[in-house]
Amino acid sequence: MRLCDYEKQGIRERCEQALEKLRTLQPQLNAVVTFCDIDEQLEALKDRDPKGKLYGMPIVLKDNVSTKGIRTTASSRILDNYVPVYDANIVERLKEQGAIIIAKASMDELGMGGTNKNAYTGKVNNPYDLKRISGGSSGGSAVLVAAGGVAVAIGTDTGDSVRKPAAYNGIIGVKPTYGRISRYGIIPYASSLDHVGYFTTNVEDACTMLEVLAGRDDRDMTSSYREVEAYREHLNSDLKGKVIGILDSVQDTIKEERIKTNVEELCAKLAARGAQIRHVQMPQELMETILPVYLTIANAEATANHSNLDGIRFGMREDGESVEEVMKHSRTKGFSAYVRKRFIIGSYSLFVENQDKLFRKAQKIRRLIVDHYRALFEECDCIIASAAPTIAPYEDEAMDEALGLERLVADNHMQLGNFSGYPSMTLPSGSIDGMPIGVNITCRPFEEQTMFNIGKAIEEETGLADHTVEVKA
Ligand code: GLN
Repeated sequence: MRLCDYEKQGIRERCEQALEKLRTLQPQLNAVVTFCDIDEQLEALKDRDPKGKLYGMPIVLKDNVSTKGIRTTASSRILDNYVPVYDANIVERLKEQGAIIIAKASMDELGMGGTNKNAYTGKVNNPYDLKRISGGSSGGSAVLVAAGGVAVAIGTDTGDSVRKPAAYNGIIGVKPTYGRISRYGIIPYASSLDHVGYFTTNVEDACTMLEVLAGRDDRDMTSSYREVEAYREHLNSDLKGKVIGILDSVQDTIKEERIKTNVEELCAKLAARGAQIRHVQMPQELMETILPVYLTIANAEATANHSNLDGIRFGMREDGESVEEVMKHSRTKGFSAYVRKRFIIGSYSLFVENQDKLFRKAQKIRRLIVDHYRALFEECDCIIASAAPTIAPYEDEAMDEALGLERLVADNHMQLGNFSGYPSMTLPSGSIDGMPIGVNITCRPFEEQTMFNIGKAIEEETGLADHTVEVKA
């Protein structure tokens, strides 16, 4: 489904139909936390410019995007009753362009996880096989696009949470450069790694969405002043002179031959279009540190960011004899055991006596990794690798932080995009045993246009633009 498909219908009809479709999908996918009331939004459209890029288009937001007057839970019990009094910057931008928010989508609790089994409302199911996971943490948004519920949906990506579920569900997932999209009003996870991202089914819509979402916002001091480009107008799939590096450090660790071959065959086609294909490496010992470094930094930042979820200021409150007891009881009941474990690890590495040994050490290794990564882009315009080493796992096989060497590198390499902040996207690239697989491409900072152009060439080769799946009961 693509954005222009909607143009054939009246606005109210299309929004109602999209809502209806989401309701039909709900028993199968379990992807929605809150269905939104559209009447007021349709009324407000009267004051919007009908030439808006998303005028009257239904859209879904991950439930960590603050929406004024609409419950925003981040799929955590502690925020079950939380209704923000303001809109995130991206919500203002979406509304300005005429988008209609029809639902808030399930996610791994507070963004922590890669399965979407860690949502307070339960597992989100993969539309290709309901027994398999959607991937996370933006799983709800991903499956609603993959199942043709909406053309576009918002996610966030701290460690690959847009780009991994995109691969598992056969759609496009974009994480632009750090600072390209304001994070104001996004319930944070780990601020130095957090990015707003989104899902579409084709590269043109991916261009349109970035034009809508990107731009400076004074309320997020990390947001960039750089002008937002006319990505869609300048979209062109000419690869002549482009150097694409296959990241062998990832490909060599993948066990599934069909996934490896998929990237090789695709790159041969890109070479036939005039791209130069190279094989590039990162030091293997650094690749193996990506996950531990990521978890050390992410858990520490999350612990600090979420100290405000205390049962006092907002969200769920449990009784207690003292303020401390209220906090303790609220946090114990409000967070899952998995999230509490992460806070313990985060607190441990922030203890004064541990900071040098853990948190600062992780930051130094992050710098080292990014220095090596940056050097690859001196000879390459784009780095390509398989987005995931397997198809979406079954529920009982799927786990977070599989530390065994088997999947360590291939399952976590996309965190390079968060360490560096470089723009990175996943595109569908084929299927195995009826399940979709994807490739990931990453480019230099703020070179989203190059990324979209290479993405367009890939899309032309795979023929997978606008691909969605009919969910079978
Ligand atoms: N799986 C990673 C984690 O659990 C990534 C999550 C994300 O990008 N939000 O932290």
